[in-house]
This record gives sequence, C-alpha cells and structure tokens, in this order.
Amino acid sequence: MPNIRFQSLEALSSRKPTEFIVPDGGVPTYYGKHVFNQKAMQSWLSAEAYKSVMSATQHGTKIDRAMADQIASAMKAWSNTLGATHYTHWFQPLTGATAEKHDSFFEPAAGGQAIERFDGGMLVQQEPDASSFPNGGIRNTFEARGYTAWDPTSPAFVIGKTLCIPSVFVSYTGEALDYKTPLLRALQSIDVAAASVCQYFDKNVKKVTATLGWEQEYFLVDSAMFKARPDLLLTGRTLLGHAPAKGQQLEDHYFGSIPERVIMYMRELEYEAHLLGIPLKTRHNEVAPGQYEMAPLYEEANLAVDHNSLIMDVMEKVALRHGFRVLLHEKPFAGVNGSGKHNNWSLATDTGINLLSPGKNPKSNLQFLTFFINIIKAVHTHADLLRSSIAAASNDHRLGANEAPPAIISVFIGSQLSQVLDELEKIEGGKLSAEQKTELKLNVVGKIPEILLDNTDRNRTSPFAFTGNKFEFRAVGSTANCAGPMTILNAILANQLIEFKAEVDALIENKMKKDDAIFNVLKEYIKSSKDIRFEGDGYSQAWADEAAKRGLSNVKTTPRALDFFVSGQTLGLFEGLGIMNHKEVHARHEIMLENYQKKIQIESRVLGDMAGNHIVPTALRYQSLLMQNLQGMKQVFDEATFNRLAKVPKSMIEEIAERITVIIEKREAMVEERKKANKLEDMRERAIAYCEKVLPYFEAIRYQSDKLEMLIDDEVWTLPKYREMLFMK
Ligand code: ADP
Ligand code: MG
Repeated sequence: MPNIRFQSLEALSSRKPTEFIVPDGGVPTYYGKHVFNQKAMQSWLSAEAYKSVMSATQHGTKIDRAMADQIASAMKAWSNTLGATHYTHWFQPLTGATAEKHDSFFEPAAGGQAIERFDGGMLVQQEPDASSFPNGGIRNTFEARGYTAWDPTSPAFVIGKTLCIPSVFVSYTGEALDYKTPLLRALQSIDVAAASVCQYFDKNVKKVTATLGWEQEYFLVDSAMFKARPDLLLTGRTLLGHAPAKGQQLEDHYFGSIPERVIMYMRELEYEAHLLGIPLKTRHNEVAPGQYEMAPLYEEANLAVDHNSLIMDVMEKVALRHGFRVLLHEKPFAGVNGSGKHNNWSLATDTGINLLSPGKNPKSNLQFLTFFINIIKAVHTHADLLRSSIAAASNDHRLGANEAPPAIISVFIGSQLSQVLDELEKIEGGKLSAEQKTELKLNVVGKIPEILLDNTDRNRTSPFAFTGNKFEFRAVGSTANCAGPMTILNAILANQLIEFKAEVDALIENKMKKDDAIFNVLKEYIKSSKDIRFEGDGYSQAWADEAAKRGLSNVKTTPRALDFFVSGQTLGLFEGLGIMNHKEVHARHEIMLENYQKKIQIESRVLGDMAGNHIVPTALRYQSLLMQNLQGMKQVFDEATFNRLAKVPKSMIEEIAERITVIIEKREAMVEERKKANKLEDMRERAIAYCEKVLPYFEAIRYQSDKLEMLIDDEVWTLPKYREMLFMK
C-alpha cells in the first residue's frame, strides 16, 4: 500500500477536466434566474406589494403584515417554480461563515394531509436555535434565543432547493449578533451625512449609496492532496512544507493561460454566480502558482457584501464537483504570495454621480474634492480603527509580508492629486479675494484631469489607494467578510462629513460665502491630515521608519490591533452614529479575540500532531534505513575505506537525530505555553499569550521539518509537497 501522498498523486494524475458547458444563449438567458429580483417581483407581486418592497429598499420604510403575507406567498410560489421545498433566513453570524437553518414549507393538515405554507410572519422573522453562535457574553445560555429578521434591501434567492432570505441576526434584547446589522446602520449614516453635504452642490441629491466592488483572490488545490494534508483540512493553510525550487520567481503564472481544469471550474462558478445575480466579470491567474482571482462589477455595498459571502460558499460547492478544494486563507503557502480581497469603494448619488469621480468643471470638482479630502481626513483620524477592521489571525501572515500592504495605514492618492492638494494648501485662507478665486478655479480645481485612472493605479504597496474614481482598500484579507471594513469605512466617513458640515455651516453663519467656507475647512483638513498620505514604497523599511517618526501605528498582530476597536474614540464614534452601543462593541471585541485564540490553538494542535505522526516517524524510518546501510558498509569495506565513506551516512543519521530532538523539544515547550495560556481568564491576555508565546514555536518546528523534508527519501515522505500541490494542471 503506497503512502497517502502517493495515493493522492495517483488520484491527481488520473484526474480529467470536468466538462462544463454554458447553456445556449449565454448569460442574458439565465442571469438572475434564481433571484427574486425586480423583474420576478413585477410578475409575481401585486402593484401595491411591489411598491411596498421598493419603498422599503429605497427609503427603509416598513412593510406591514398584510403586505408581508402577500409577498411571502408570492415568494414561495416563485421559488416553487425552481423546485424549492424549504426556506431559510440566510445570515452572517460572527463566526465568519454564513448560516442557514432550513425549514420545510410543508405543514401537516387535518385528515392526515399535508399543505405548504409560508406567510408574512415566517418571512419577516425566524428563530434559529442560536445558542451556539458567538455572542461575546451578550446572551447567557438561558436566554439564548436570538432571532433573524428579513432584510428587504437584499433580494431573496434560491440555492439548491432552498429559498434563502437575507436577514439580520439580533439578540432578543436588540443587540447585533451579526455582520449585517451594523453595516446597514453605517450605510444609513453615510447616506444621510453624504446627502446633506451634497446639498451644498446640488439640491436634487436625496440619497447617497456606498458602492463596493470586491476582488476575491483564492488558491485551488486538488482535493486528493487537500485530504492528505491534515493542516489544509483542519486549518486551511499549510503549517509545514519546503518551498519548491521554482516558486513565483519567473512571474510566469500571473495573467498566464488558465489551466483547462481551472477554466472549467471558473465557468461553472460564473454560471452559478450569474444565476444568483452576482455580476462576476473578471477572472485571471494571480501571482502565486495555483492562485486565481475573480471580480464582479461593483454594486450597492450591502448587496455586494452579501454577494461576496454567498460566492465564498458557492466557490467551495462548485470546487467539489471539479475535484478541487478552494483555499480562501490569506496565506495557505509560505514563500509565495498570499490572498487578499481588495475592497473598491465609492459613493454614488441618486442623481447618477460618482462622488469620487472628478468632473468636467470646477464646481463638480469642488464636490469631488470635498469628499476626497474628507475621506483622507477620516482615515487620518481613524487609521487605527481601520487597521483593526482587517485584523484576523490569517491576515497577520500577510500584512507587511512584502507582498501585501503593511500593517501601517496610509493613503496613496497619486502625484496629480497630491499636487492639487499642495496648491490648495498654499492659497491664503479667510475670505477669498477675486484673484484667489480665479487661482482656485483655474489652477487648482480646474486642473484636476477628468480621467485619473492611468496615473493612480501604479502603487500596489499602499493599503488604501485612490484609483481614479474610487478608493481601494487593499489590506482586507481574502477570508474576511467585507461587512467589517465596509462598516468602519462608511462610519468614519459619515462621522467626518457631519463634522465638516458643522464647521462649514458655522462659517456660513458668520457671513462667509459658502464656497469660501468649504475651501477654508478643506484647506485645514489638508494640513491636519498630511501625515497619513504616503506615495512611496509601502514595503520598504524606510517607510516603517518614516511612519514611526510621523507617529503612525504599525501594529502587526491581531490581539493588539483589536485594542483600537474598543478605544474611547471608537466607542464614541459607533455610539454617536447609533451603529453599535458599548455592549455590542465589547461583545464583538471579545468574539474576535476568542476567534483568534481558538484559531492559533487549533493550528498549534495540528502542528503538534503532524510532527508526532508524520514527520518524526518518517524521519525515524529513514534513519533506520541509513543505519542498516552503515552496518552493511562495515561488512563490505576495510576499516580505512569504511571510515572515509561512512562519514556521509553518519552525518545524515546525526542530522536526523538532532532535528527530531529539536522538534520534540519545541513541541513540548509549545504545549507548556498553551497550558499556561489556557489558564488565563482574560480573553485579551489569552489571545496575546497565544500570539506571543505559542505562535513563535510554529516557525521553529517548521524550520526543522522543512530541512528534514529535503534530507529524507522522497519515497517515504507522507505529506504532499508544495511542488505537487501548487503546479497541478
Ligand atoms: P483593477 O483594480 O484590478 O485594476 P478595476 O480598477 O477595473 O480593476 O476594478 C476593480 C474593481 O473595482 C471592480 O470590482 C469594479 O467593479 C470596482 N469598481 C469600479 N468602479 C467602482 C465604484 N465606483 N465603486 C466601487 N467599486 C468600483
Ligand atoms: Mg484592484
């Protein structure tokens, strides 16, 4: 019986691409077919019910019970045409994964019969037995019931045979227990704050929507290999493994031709996405071997967040049909690039204007500059909170690893806009003279080119970059729920815009002209937020040094970065905007710390197990072989020859013994540290102990194991190797 690695290699070699043929007629014939979208609603709902859903979506109005009954019954009838037998409130608890509890439409009726029923009450609210979802101490188990409530702003859809109703998840006392609730509150805040600032420029603007276009990076590995690697199976990343001789040095994978098996996978994934109305548009190879990316067209942020959560689930389902496993982890393989999820973010008005797109004339450009500069100011004020929004055990491996943005938050805006801000800053403040106004119009705002795209997309090392008509938050990790960073970005901007409006209004009240007032406040912002702007190489040590001089934080690990999430400033921000109260923020903090600690704990156990039942036994077996060889040599050779030739096998035997000894010692020490950490009652202290006392052993053990991998006969090594997992065709 060959070892598990050879079995998986054999499975891989017999793998053929699973054909997938897109139905005739192409995307337009099936796009959104599984979504209860506007078109479906128009054909299934009465005009009155349709209007009530639209109004709820656009203006947040309530849907009354009678209407909800009508909508529910139409939704069910529609889903029945797609074969749906069950329904579920689909929500995003703080575990990071999406959650669903299926209930059948069927109900027993009199006379031993069965009927199907789905009414307004069931549509609006469901009670999952939610005692096992993380709640950070908000709910004691005896009052364990939380409930999910329909979010009509994101359309229902059918997956498999289940009608899924996008929902929020809250405790009985009303606290948010999910990602969506604070996001919706933040989106509401930004709508109000941004629309009111837009009034300075255009009275017709009634609503501002945050937009999000995510780019999802991921790895694919053959499922047989995946199963043969306990670390991939249980932690989503490799904890051991020597780098292959060829990694990504030649840069021959990026944008290269996509392997046939992968193309088939992507095709089916896109098909499934399009059925669900997820507008996937782009696909390509990424930098690392085995790494890929996909991106949709941007959408309203809440919908885009749902679509990203949904696609992560669909990705895994489709992968199984193609003999793949998807690795969404930020750093599945050491030595090659990890995966991120760029969040492209902007604001759109109901008059069809992208507020981050410079316009054709100085007036629209003053509006552009207002939002642009307020964003820089908001990031400057809340850089640390933004850092905390991307903190996760898995993302720690990536931030600052010379492949992804550093853990220092800064803003890149490109040379043209830097120049504009510099010139704006130079103009004397106060009431503007006629000449100053001309200068401002012609030489500053008038100079902003309409198209900035080419100039602004160059710096890939910045965590937060302006890319022509949107900001791109690049430090977000590939496993993240975009709701985290989106909640915080929109919240800090909303808060900033409220302050801005107050300052401008105060000047106007003091008889300053509107444009002068706006200019004066912006000018102050440019000055006070300068330190957050950085145009150079974010990967360099020089930047780390410079950032330290500027007083910018550079916190590299999650448990410490999360401190920012509960700072006085953060609590004030969330509470002020009504996004989360103290209790909710602290609960979330606790959950994130616990999640961190558990992830490292699991990794540590898996590493210990692998060292104990893969690495050490394999090394011992090979060492015995070497010792037999040595014995044999002794019989064959005369003493002088033996002494000369035995050096190599002897030193190999010795090296193996040394490395095994270190591995076992380190493993024991790691377990000791774990025991100590587990005794700590305070969750923050425990997470820090895991980070600073347990985690460092990983590298030490891995180092020895990877050396052994190079020393030991390929035939007896049991774990699939990097070169086998990464270069599959
Ligand atoms: P790249 O950054 O890879 O060069 P693009 O800049 O063309 O690619 O677009 C990347 C992502 O930005 C896409 O998902 C796209 O939908 C999104 N995007 C474009 N415009 C906006 C916008 N106004 N708001 C939010 N996202 C946007
Ligand atoms: Mg991009």
